[in-house]
Amino acid sequence: MQIERIETYPLLYRLQQPYGDANGYKKYRTCYLIRIITRSGVDGWGEIVDWLPTLHKGFVERIVPYLLGKQATAHLPLIDVVGKWHQRAAAGVSMALTEIVAKRAGLSVCELWGGLFHETIPVYASFQSYTDQADWQRRSLQRVMQQAEAGFTQMKVKIGGRAMQVDQAHIELLRASLPATVQLALDANQSYDLSAARKWERVFSRYEDWMWLEEPMPMERVLDYEKLRQSISVAVAGGENLVRCAQYLPLLKHGAVDIIQPDPMHAEGMDGFRANLQLARQFGLRVSPHVFDGSLARLYALFAQACLPPWSKMDAEPVEPVEWDVMENPFTQLFELTPENGRVKIPQGPGIGVEPNWDIINATRWDGSSYT
Ligand code: MG
Repeated sequence: MQIERIETYPLLYRLQQPYGDANGYKKYRTCYLIRIITRSGVDGWGEIVDWLPTLHKGFVERIVPYLLGKQATAHLPLIDVVGKWHQRAAAGVSMALTEIVAKRAGLSVCELWGGLFHETIPVYASFQSYTDQADWQRRSLQRVMQQAEAGFTQMKVKIGGRAMQVDQAHIELLRASLPATVQLALDANQSYDLSAARKWERVFSRYEDWMWLEEPMPMERVLDYEKLRQSISVAVAGGENLVRCAQYLPLLKHGAVDIIQPDPMHAEGMDGFRANLQLARQFGLRVSPHVFDGSLARLYALFAQACLPPWSKMDAEPVEPVEWDVMENPFTQLFELTPENGRVKIPQGPGIGVEPNWDIINATRWDGSSYT
């Protein structure tokens, strides 16, 4: 199981129309795929997202030489070292080594992790609501209606990037137009203070079926979250940028959120990611993985979610949804799964059970030039 070769695939796609959230506009989407191959020919894929010029240099000049010749089965010691240099690279390496060990054992990743509780997982359509066009609200509505027609019944849209009245008018527009069967989450990307966040209750109280209010305030304001949770009628979610269990603990111990949202690419490898999910279960809370970057990370989020025991005894929906990027982004199709009526079926083959789409890899190879 000696690591013999590592291939890297830096991929870049420039967006036709920039879109964004309260933190600004995205002009491009990137993906950095790695493929680790052992001497016996077993391979595993990993995914990393960061600025390609520095990521690529650091990965090929430091991480690849370190990994070559090492045992792929020494997963945890290897990512412990890589994680000290580059946390996200360690998450990608962890994906690849997980797949190699699963394939070597003739198992799927979920079997390696102890087996499925859920054969399908609900996914929610995730939007970046803002563009620099004057009629961005109308365009946002069009996108949302399109996905409702495609079968999504849970959706997340952005707030916090415009004046309160403008954002609330946007959400009212969506609410008035979407079928009543669609549940909505609002993501403020940590834009508010407590009093501003509370102003959303006016909108929440007028409609049913909210999924959650996501990261209304900076996540370190644990006591403000505790107060907010007591004063609004919808679930409060957050924590996509937190890395390890110790960082989630203050939120959980104070009862500051209803739902935590760990991201596989932000965790200390796939085992650290799973530990973050399991932590929620230890506290009897909900967990809905955040995965806006990349389809391989999303696949690992689905695997981990499928291996979680139910959060509730209610039989209607025993497991929480995983994020599904529906914006213009070819990389969401790299490891293709197609949701049907807002759910995806967990692949069952050895390893991850899905092959990458080489047409997308070949069409989006980064040419090495700088970009901003
Ligand atoms: Mg978010």
